[in-house]
Amino acid sequence: METFDELYYREPYTREFDASVVSCEPADEGFAIELDQTAFYPTGGGQPGDRGTLSVGAGEDSLVAHVREAISGDGAGEVIHLTDIALPVGASVHGSLDWPWRRDNMEAHTGEHIVSGIVHALFGYNNVGFHMGERCIEVDFDGLLTDDDVLDVERRANAAIREDVSVEALLPSPAELAAMDYRSKKDHDGQIRVVRINGVDFCACCGTHVSSTGQVGLIKILRMTTKKKRTRLELLCGRRALETCEAAMAALRETSNFLTVGDEEVPEAVRRLSAEKDDLKHQLKQAGRKQIDQYVATLAPEDSLAVCCLPGLDVEDLRYLCEQVLERTDATVCAGISPVEDGGSRLAYVMASSDADLRPACKELNRRLDGRGGGKAQMVQGSWASSSDAALTAIRDVLG
Ligand SMILES: [Zn+2]
Repeated sequence: METFDELYYREPYTREFDASVVSCEPADEGFAIELDQTAFYPTGGGQPGDRGTLSVGAGEDSLVAHVREAISGDGAGEVIHLTDIALPVGASVHGSLDWPWRRDNMEAHTGEHIVSGIVHALFGYNNVGFHMGERCIEVDFDGLLTDDDVLDVERRANAAIREDVSVEALLPSPAELAAMDYRSKKDHDGQIRVVRINGVDFCACCGTHVSSTGQVGLIKILRMTTKKKRTRLELLCGRRALETCEAAMAALRETSNFLTVGDEEVPEAVRRLSAEKDDLKHQLKQAGRKQIDQYVATLAPEDSLAVCCLPGLDVEDLRYLCEQVLERTDATVCAGISPVEDGGSRLAYVMASSDADLRPACKELNRRLDGRGGGKAQMVQGSWASSSDAALTAIRDVLG
């Protein structure tokens, strides 16, 4: 439990501090160190714990312990620093926070208050889940939002940032608390800390925040998903939001330059390109069919079996070829094969018949030509790991 007298609460902008080692015990993957005071915020309330270093001494004999995470201990206000090396109990240490990491988390946590406060004020929904991940912040609300609602929330959130409203942490007495209308996720025991952003949010919270909304800089809501009357917003704040916008703008610029259109015209240009591609594919298919028709017109099978080997045909083309052969010639069985264009030595095949059951022959050919596939009695298809010559010989042997 917090006492709210910890250094990271009293002076949340403290990046460096001096303290002494109270205890140092072996822990998973390193050591658990406790200090007499610390600016390291321990993981809790949806906010990741601080990282940084604890140094003892200077020069060649100095020791530097890397803190991978600060977590809460069992006692009131107890913070455990999880480190890679041990430090001597009683030693004076100089603590140094990974400030970009903490600053990101302060911006993110404050941004979450702004968004949750606005959603609560506009729609009456409660924040029922909060997670600050490596990629983004996820906030869950107990109600449904539309895309327009989300855009409205984001615009209001950024307006609150431009207003640069102060962010205060209050420690009200029970009587003062009873008179306050604040958001709270759960019932707390003991002292309640309430974070007030005037006109934006009023919420019980034990995290660290920037001291005014302007320092959040920017809020971008990346994605909204809804599930069972709940809405999850994925958002970014501050530096992370700005870097994501920079990357998105760079991608847009690259695309618009490539397409030689303006940024706003990119979606329409991509749709047009996609339609052109579909049209070309269709034309190519038609041209291919015409070639197959011309090829079939030259065929004059001497017996009931027609065997055709043509390059560049897919299974769909091979089916068309077989259908045309059976329809337009005297052949009653047609085998169409085409090398698969993947640099290997596989053949795609389709075999069709106007009366016979081809499945036994297909099975035998698969066995001989190391292939796979099958189908209905009068139409089978698949592929063989074989050269064209070997396949032609095998087909004539089995079906001839
Ligand atoms: Zn907070």
